[in-house]
Amino acid sequence: MTKRFIKVTEDFVCEKCGKHVEGDGYTNHCPECLWSKHVDNNPGDRACGCQGLMLPSLESVKGDKYTLKHACQTCGHTKLNKASENDSKKAIIDLSHSD
Ligand SMILES: [Zn+2]
Ligand SMILES: [Zn+2]
Repeated sequence: MTKRFIKVTEDFVCEKCGKHVEGDGYTNHCPECLWSKHVDNNPGDRACGCQGLMLPSLESVKGDKYTLKHACQTCGHTKLNKASENDSKKAIIDLSHSD
């Protein structure tokens, strides 16, 4: 049994901006400020005990598809995430200007 992706629908409150985020099972970052939290070893498993806040940056843009990179502020782990339809375009654009 190596089911690596477990779909978990859960709501969470963003620890960065305080927004209440309604989980859709895929959301792993805040759509307002794009910060994430280091909770998974494999996507969705919530098996990581780190719990560090993860700083978003813009990794790449292809057309209207954005890839975010999240860097854990606690352990330094980085991971790539696709931006979702619900993510704030303004926040994404702001990231692209912050380099
Ligand atoms: Zn937020
Ligand atoms: Zn971490």
